[in-house]
Amino acid sequence: MKKTIKKPELLAPAGTLEKLKIAIDYGADAVYIGGQGFGLRTRAGNFSFEEMQEGVAYAERHQAKVYVAANMVTHVDDEKGADEFFKKLAAIGIHGVIVSDPALIEICQEAAPALEVHLSTQASAVNAETLNFWQELGLKRVVLGREVTMEELKAISQNSAVDIEVFVHGAMCISYSGRCVLSNHMSLRDANRGGCSQSCRWKYQLYDLDGAGNRRDFSGPAGEPFSMSAVDLCMLEHLPDLIENGADSLKIEGRMKSIHYVSTVVNVYRKAIDTYLADPAHYQFDPHWLDEIWKVSQRELSTGFYYAEPTAAEQLFGPRRKRPTYTFIGEVLAYDEATKIATIRQRNHFSVGDAIEFYGPQWQTHFMQQVEWMENEDGERIDRAPNPMMLLTMPVTAPVRAGDMIRKKGEPA
Ligand code: SF4
Repeated sequence: MKKTIKKPELLAPAGTLEKLKIAIDYGADAVYIGGQGFGLRTRAGNFSFEEMQEGVAYAERHQAKVYVAANMVTHVDDEKGADEFFKKLAAIGIHGVIVSDPALIEICQEAAPALEVHLSTQASAVNAETLNFWQELGLKRVVLGREVTMEELKAISQNSAVDIEVFVHGAMCISYSGRCVLSNHMSLRDANRGGCSQSCRWKYQLYDLDGAGNRRDFSGPAGEPFSMSAVDLCMLEHLPDLIENGADSLKIEGRMKSIHYVSTVVNVYRKAIDTYLADPAHYQFDPHWLDEIWKVSQRELSTGFYYAEPTAAEQLFGPRRKRPTYTFIGEVLAYDEATKIATIRQRNHFSVGDAIEFYGPQWQTHFMQQVEWMENEDGERIDRAPNPMMLLTMPVTAPVRAGDMIRKKGEPA
């Protein structure tokens, strides 16, 4: 049942309609979103049916797909309304739903038989027999548990014909495939019903009591607070391994991430995948791609479980050891070729004299310059852009396009 290697899908997170469009503009083949129910990100900007409709239309204009995550664990009565929900998704033209609970899978298959069902990573599928089981039940794709190794991916793909989706970038859970109740205990929010409060990433004081009741502090040499958080996954340097070992879809985690994050990470992975596919035999990883990734805010990076069991270095027990190098400041709305003036929408503070970088989809725009001057909407010169979402004009040293992004050197405050 060995599969032939084909071009993998680059699958990006989209917490809002704006992020959906940006992810597609920057190179995603597909995006995954949340609806108003049945998902695991109640704090992400979940889509109304109207927004989904607009998202599907936008995606299809760009030959991309939209999947909806409906991967909560349903307790008694939680599944109420799921049949109507799935029918509506099918009517809108959603290309697939990501589900883990067998109750929701069955409801979806009965209510909307044409809607493609993908098994969520929450279901912890980590062997070929499990994939074949779900395929026999009519599922088209399985998102593997993040705990699979590269060798296991190879074995799975050689013994199963169902589409395989794997994570390539983003946050990891310290619990097995996100099956975690830490948040339930710490904040009374059920992680498996969309309420995770990221309790593993909080700062704790760690100590033990000896026989006499004295505290023995385990907080670390500098008295640092203790966190249970894992560092983030980054498979950018190992994409050929994933593609050659049978991954059909490469998934970036992070529906709650910013447009800066989505545009940057999608851009880099698009470039690396296309470079590899253009000439696999002579493919060479470009270290600048990793520098690009480090321009956005994230935890430190590792290869997760793919090559070895994560060690203590893959946990964030103390403070971050590496920081992002840029701060997102805005996006380009328009450019006047005659005057070489760009209109931008500001997102974060910046000032005249700051070193700023413009970048765009597939780096058609990519240059640095200093802010020479800028004007507000009333045409007044200002030294500092103070209010988020202000419209500004400024001269640029190279052509820019609507949709390009701007960041300044220096980590976020
Ligand atoms: S608390 Fe941490 S480990 Fe648990 S589900 Fe949330 S992110 Fe995952």
